[in-house]
Amino acid sequence: MPFVPMLESIRRLAMARIAKRSVISHSHKGTCTPYVTDFLKEEKKDASLCKVTRSTNGMYEVNLITTGAPDIHIPPEPDQPGRKKVTKADKKRKKGVNESPTKKQPKHKKRIMHCGICGQPDHNSRFHTKNKVCFTPTQVASQRWIH
Ligand SMILES: [Zn+2]
Repeated sequence: MPFVPMLESIRRLAMARIAKRSVISHSHKGTCTPYVTDFLKEEKKDASLCKVTRSTNGMYEVNLITTGAPDIHIPPEPDQPGRKKVTKADKKRKKGVNESPTKKQPKHKKRIMHCGICGQPDHNSRFHTKNKVCFTPTQVASQRWIH
């Protein structure tokens, strides 16, 4: 089927479908559709068997009249599946009350990097720029020769 006539027939079928549904939607009385009315009728049947007791903080308790047992329960949330997270603090041995706390080891000072090109400590060869006031390789080489 060619493309444009295909779209044309889709349009015609959609029009007919909308018109048919429109007739159905206007054929019933009441604020809700028949499906919703039936659904609410069933809900009302169940609700008529319940007794609502008002509490504070906007809370209510709903009891089934036949049994008298509370109908609404909020179960506690179950634990999520999977391995529990073990932190560094969990692995560490717990010290007794009389034990003195461990002293913190002083951190090792990092080695001071020197530039591979000019030998200055404030930068390395990657960040060596010609604009910086530093020795040129030739100067370094000549200094080495002197010493
Ligand atoms: Zn440099």
